[in-house]
Amino acid sequence: MRLNRVYVDAPLSPGSLIERPAAAAQHLGRVLRARSGEQIVLFNGDGREFTAALESIRGSRATATVGEARSIDRESPLAVTLVQCIARADRMDVIVQKATELGVTRIVPVLSRRGVVRLDPAQAASKAEHWRGIAIAACEQCGRNRLPGIETPRLLTRHLGDTPRPTGARLVLEPDAEGPDAAFEIGAAVEIAIGPEGGFDGEELDALRVSGFACVSLGPRVLRTETAAIAGLAWLQSRYGDLGFPPPRRARPR
Ligand code: SAH
Repeated sequence: MRLNRVYVDAPLSPGSLIERPAAAAQHLGRVLRARSGEQIVLFNGDGREFTAALESIRGSRATATVGEARSIDRESPLAVTLVQCIARADRMDVIVQKATELGVTRIVPVLSRRGVVRLDPAQAASKAEHWRGIAIAACEQCGRNRLPGIETPRLLTRHLGDTPRPTGARLVLEPDAEGPDAAFEIGAAVEIAIGPEGGFDGEELDALRVSGFACVSLGPRVLRTETAAIAGLAWLQSRYGDLGFPPPRRARPR
């Protein structure tokens, strides 16, 4: 049976006692139906996971004794940054969850002209926190011991203006693209941009091209933005990363 995995935002070392307040304890008790004495797995995002014995779980507090550390690498050899135009509420949650399961390294939520979501700075910060929570839950479920980075939402133009420019290929998914409109070679890192419900407008596509993005299509059907994110990431991981059987390329030791 798979052990329940719990993220802990604290240093972990064998032999120490960890106490989890409110949210995590409730999650353990109510959702995972964990019981005192049960073995669980703890991770804090540093790439290792620790077996732990749940000592007690009572109401809003849970304590566990940390056991042995294991380095288990479930990260893709392909570092993918998803530049995602923010989709409506629960769709964006789905994108963050699925992207995490599909091994994304970083998510940059962006606002674009035809997007339906508008955020002031306070909302942007709280959205980013909310999505970090979703990514943590996805890591607990899918076995990742590293959390994807989730940036604070920003304008697409601001992201494109960021310096220095990242190394690695840059792709923008565009339904009308007729094959890639610029040469690209995918090495160890790739950035993939996905438009909002209304798509990118012409000026945005031009700005993306100027910033080194090649337009690629994923086929003849127009996908919803959340479908495009999932399909795009699955395509990248299956072709250049670690999704599939046999794995498309041997995971490189880190
Ligand atoms: N109304 C828009 C469609 C937007 S779909 C239009 O007609 O152009 C939302 C986003 O999903 C797009 O901006 C694109 O990034 C991605 N997408 C959807 N279908 C795609 C496809 N077949 N190929 C590549 N990207 C696609």
